[in-house]
Amino acid sequence: MTIWCLGSVNADHFYRLPHLPAPGETLAASDYSRGLGGKGANMAVAAARGGAPVELVGAVGPDGLWMKARLADYGVSVRHLAESAEASGHAIISVDAAGENQITIYGGANRALEPARIDTAFAEAREGDIFVCQNETNLQRAGADIARSRGLRVVYAAAPFEVEAVRKMLDVADLLVLNAVEARQLQEATGLAPEALPVAGIVITLGADGVRWIDTKTGQSRDFPAVAVTAVDTTGAGDTFTGYLLAGLDRGLSMEAAIPLAAKAAALKVTRRGTADAIPSLSEVETWAP
Ligand code: ATP
Repeated sequence: MTIWCLGSVNADHFYRLPHLPAPGETLAASDYSRGLGGKGANMAVAAARGGAPVELVGAVGPDGLWMKARLADYGVSVRHLAESAEASGHAIISVDAAGENQITIYGGANRALEPARIDTAFAEAREGDIFVCQNETNLQRAGADIARSRGLRVVYAAAPFEVEAVRKMLDVADLLVLNAVEARQLQEATGLAPEALPVAGIVITLGADGVRWIDTKTGQSRDFPAVAVTAVDTTGAGDTFTGYLLAGLDRGLSMEAAIPLAAKAAALKVTRRGTADAIPSLSEVETWAP
């Protein structure tokens, strides 16, 4: 079966600075590096590295062809990654000597997806496939509705948290993936505890404290520990977890089996610097003995 990821692709531009710039200040960076990021790209890479066939539905601009090539290198199908006239989504990440950062994100091509392209892409989806989206594109609900109508399971990662986007998705999602902050924001916005939400299942990631899975049909919840590591860079840990979780479910693992494997993959990622480029392969995860 295939994982259909409707999601963002961002170029992450990292600049090392002596301090974060004050208003009106011009500063020379001592170091620059560029990486592949964006929640859609990260999840798609994680699911593909985790062993699943993955279609990424989204868009890059004329400046984003290197990202399309890199996604393909990581095993993600980019047949439905449009080349748009808009600039690619990107993040300008300034890091000072103490490791403090300042981030500017521009959605660009990610926010200009065209409905007709989504229709064309999902015309190929089959019952039993999995659909996943996040909040860095437009058309999440439209994509989820088509996916549902074609018999796909709909998974929604409510990140970055935006109240209106999340409200629109609650009655179409089968599985909701949230981090601890998002779970609290959702509870504040809806007035409902996670277990009272109208979705079949909820996974809450708790960083170094592991993962909570709530089966809302039975009201049961179960906690899974994180793998203890020395964290080097936690960026993309959540996306790695979600991609690996879906890859596990896609090959028929139960939630009880898929969650610990996904937590192990995310822990291994946390020991490495970088986002999509730092996501480990399934064989690396399986042979890793932390
Ligand atoms: P990010 O926004 O940085 O991608 P997130 O806030 O969405 O992450 P987290 O809950 O921080 O997601 O992390 C997702 C999962 O990754 C956790 O449930 C855990 O399994 C693993 N993880 C994250 N941080 C650590 C850590 N320091 N040590 C071990 N595992 C970790």
